[in-house]
Amino acid sequence: MTTSLFFLMWGLATALALPLLVPFHARGLGGIKAFTAANALAVVSLLAYATSQMLPPGVYVIVSNAAWVSALSLAYIGVRQFFGMRPHIRRAAVLGALFVLAFALMLYGQDDLRGRMLLFSGFTCAAALATGRVIFRQRRRLQTRGVMLYLMLAIFGLAALHALRIAVYTVGGEAPASLLEPSPWGLFFIVCGTVTVPALFLALLLLVQTSLSEQMQAALTFDSLTRAYSRRSILDELDRELRRCKRAGGKLAVLVLDIDHFKSINDRHGHAGGDTALRHYAQVVQRAVRTSDRFGRLGGEEFALLMYDCDPAHALVQAQRVCDALRDAPLFLHGVEVPMTTSGGLAVYQPGDTADGILARADAALYRAKQQGRDRVELAWAGRAPGRAQPAGPAEAAGAAAAGQGVESTA
Ligand code: GH3
Ligand code: MG
Ligand code: MG
Repeated sequence: MTTSLFFLMWGLATALALPLLVPFHARGLGGIKAFTAANALAVVSLLAYATSQMLPPGVYVIVSNAAWVSALSLAYIGVRQFFGMRPHIRRAAVLGALFVLAFALMLYGQDDLRGRMLLFSGFTCAAALATGRVIFRQRRRLQTRGVMLYLMLAIFGLAALHALRIAVYTVGGEAPASLLEPSPWGLFFIVCGTVTVPALFLALLLLVQTSLSEQMQAALTFDSLTRAYSRRSILDELDRELRRCKRAGGKLAVLVLDIDHFKSINDRHGHAGGDTALRHYAQVVQRAVRTSDRFGRLGGEEFALLMYDCDPAHALVQAQRVCDALRDAPLFLHGVEVPMTTSGGLAVYQPGDTADGILARADAALYRAKQQGRDRVELAWAGRAPGRAQPAGPAEAAGAAAAGQGVESTA
């Protein structure tokens, strides 16, 4: 009776992850159905032992073992599907069926308890190792630290437990005993099982949950079309950098970039052609700039590059490199060369700057770059820019020059 209660507790603990896995079905994640089925079958397997007194012996043993083998096979298949690998369903099904057949022969033939125990633990150990191997190889797929480690501890813990069980009942010389009338070793394995098996399914749940939240985070952080940083993350980063410059001093240059005559690319090559051009543009710019700098899409065909620890002279050289790189990397759409150029407005940090302020200055400089013929970069004037600049009149430019705030052009 007490052992049945142990199995009941074990089964219920294993069921903890089950209701939490089900809602993820709607997200269409690879492997989630296999994980849920595996969890449900593991619960069936344990509850079959818990209800052993109500079932004929030959039934609960075979039901429990067949369910357990299916659960482990599905966990293996699910993990492979989750990581986008071929699931090896046929291989897992054949091995599982052979196991159940061998197990049934041992049960209904000579009733070889030791043989069944070793077969059961051998299968569990091998399946856990195979699943653990996949997880180990894919361990860098999640960025959140600790999740893969937890999963590996659970799966390799299960493998180690069954390896120990094999050792105890072979070289250890321990006499085989039914799980329902356990020896001290039998009890030890039950207690360890009540930890490792629920931990395994909780770890799979954590894997699914973490992966989804990382996907959502990536969708917020990166622009889905160009893979540059999103508007939101580039503006957040700008805020952070400005606070750092204010606190600790430091240099920051902001380059706002806009593709020249982009509308005509759309008009000539269609929206899909325009999208290809945007992707090409983002790739070329990212290759041309320092990896430490942050490049993001503000919207449409407008981008921003944050250049850290960069004084105006270096920032201008860098900005010019962007224009040159684009001219030197022509895009071909349907075999036709599509010339692309870009204009930029460059503003450098000045004390008291806000994100809006520095962007408005860069924007004003960009406007001038467009006015002056495009395919060039203009350095923003020092001082305040009230918002999107109007065309700079000669008097304004002269005033700025007289005030020592030179207008520089790199084109
Ligand atoms: P300028 O040199 O003055 O910047 O001219 P432009 O044609 O580049 O600028 P304009 O603002 O007139 O046109 C921008 C176009 O970019 C209009 C819009 O349809 C297109 N656009 C914005 N976002 C996307 C996008 O995600 N994909 C595509 N294909 N086009 C886009
Ligand atoms: Mg444009
Ligand atoms: Mg624009």
